[in-house]
Amino acid sequence: MAETGVLRGVALVTGGSRGIGAAAAIALAEDGWDVGLSYRTRSDEAERVVAAVEKLGRRALAVRADVAEVDDIERLFETVVSELGAIGAVINNAGVVSPAARVDQYDVARLERVFRINAIGAFLVAGAAVRRMSTAHGGQGGVIINVSSRGAVLGSAGEYVDYAGSKAAVDTLTVGLANEVAKEGIRVLGIRPGLIETEIHEEGRLDRIGTTPPLGRPGTAEEVAALITFLASDRASYLTGSMIDVAGGR
Ligand code: NAP
Repeated sequence: MAETGVLRGVALVTGGSRGIGAAAAIALAEDGWDVGLSYRTRSDEAERVVAAVEKLGRRALAVRADVAEVDDIERLFETVVSELGAIGAVINNAGVVSPAARVDQYDVARLERVFRINAIGAFLVAGAAVRRMSTAHGGQGGVIINVSSRGAVLGSAGEYVDYAGSKAAVDTLTVGLANEVAKEGIRVLGIRPGLIETEIHEEGRLDRIGTTPPLGRPGTAEEVAALITFLASDRASYLTGSMIDVAGGR
């Protein structure tokens, strides 16, 4: 398939106010996408990302929407479509960890929160994306990029096995959904970041283990965003159902 050139359409990034999502929003704009982004509470930071996208000459919109709430997700998609136009790429990125603890210390509230946001939220966002992009629903096709974690494979012992399990669900979503919608114009991909410098880590965690990846350092959000823009582009036209690690060899 040929490159479509600079004009790539509208991308929606959940959790686009900070970290990997913010870097992805800006990198997608550099690559020619207009960007709708969601956040949960940090509106100032979301608006800073909107300003950065607009400075690149692309259109942008920030919507407060909790991925744990189905009504918020529907409102997010409707607002982005009505303000920016049909969505061609969805970056399923919003996610949380809980404080480090062993499995024998977890309570139901902790488990419900992490699975609700990371796993159920990712499934709901993916479903909302398919209902709008699938050719079977009258859409134009597109790409869904699920942000998982190397933890899904490594297990995150002693820190957050619950988080790792919620990301394993995202890996399975990627493979299963890719097969469901491959003939409906949608590619579905997953990425597994390793240790990336963002605010998601507890104080001191990156100082403690940031040099343990084979490459000897943590990654940057921009290094993850570079993979996301590649996967969203037509250059990745023969990729679907793949999980790609971006983890410095970890
Ligand atoms: P981050 O810096 O903590 O940013 C998290 C983003 O998600 C923020 O934009 C936040 O919005 C948003 N968010 C959190 N809960 C939300 C909710 N319930 N509904 C909607 N938005 C919500 O995290 P990050 O490191 O960039 O992580 C992004 C993704 O990468 C996550 O899925 C994470 O699991 C994954 N990941 C990260 C690493 C890493 O080392 N950093 C490694 C592997 C995987 P507010 O700004 O409003 O709070």
